[in-house]
Amino acid sequence: MPKLTCDISQSLWDALQKAMDDSGEGIDHLVSRALADALQLDHGTLFQVSTAGALVEGLFGGVVSVGMLREHGDFGLGTFDGLDGEMIALDGHFFQIRSDGSIRRADDGQQVPFAVVTHFSPRETMVLEPFGSMAELTAQLDRKRGTDNLFFAVRLSGRFSSLHDRVASMAGAHETLVEATAHQAEFHMQDVDGTIVGFWTPSYVRGIGIPGWHLHVISDDRQRGGHVLDCAGQGITLALEPLDDFRLAMPETADFLAADLSGDTEKALDTAERGRGR
Ligand SMILES: [Zn+2]
Repeated sequence: MPKLTCDISQSLWDALQKAMDDSGEGIDHLVSRALADALQLDHGTLFQVSTAGALVEGLFGGVVSVGMLREHGDFGLGTFDGLDGEMIALDGHFFQIRSDGSIRRADDGQQVPFAVVTHFSPRETMVLEPFGSMAELTAQLDRKRGTDNLFFAVRLSGRFSSLHDRVASMAGAHETLVEATAHQAEFHMQDVDGTIVGFWTPSYVRGIGIPGWHLHVISDDRQRGGHVLDCAGQGITLALEPLDDFRLAMPETADFLAADLSGDTEKALDTAERGRGR
């Protein structure tokens, strides 16, 4: 993360100290929020394109461009037109991870059917206890949240002793998410220096979001990555931000307008996104 050093007036400094005392917030967060306000950046806002229900039903046609997503966040995850791989956005760089294992910078003109992004401004950072599995990792993340009822963005960085991820491959015509992810690519890796970008979504957003933890990873050398199915690591640094504002951009495509989105997405998402019950 970049560090800001600058001179300010004594009166501004006094006012900042008072605001810190009054609110109990740290200086990093107060200054970041003030800057975001002044520069008219959304902050604490999750911006989502389309719904999990639409994805489950196989609505994989792109509806917004990467360039448009960039206006709403510098950090996030998603997929590309036709379910052509996994998206990860980190520090304003948007990457496309494809099922042949290759990674490229996404073009601003590329179309996206589903994504979640935010202007990431972590409230706190800490080093996690060692974890041997996704379940052990998410148990630690759960303890840091303090509530089930907000969204959270997390960044996890360091050396992962093992990583198991998947990369969606282009969906065939009329395939649902469960059918399309049945032919996904999976990768097992050891000792990877990398960063995980992820979100916690409350269960009450079922049908719109993907409830629970959803994590994508990219290696520091930008050679490997995907949607995380399992991982282990020690000395991993966690940065966490609660998000209390949610914006949903609904597609206006004929497919979206005509889709039946009334179904229960839970079982399909468990199979497609967590690899359970195949
Ligand atoms: Zn994913």
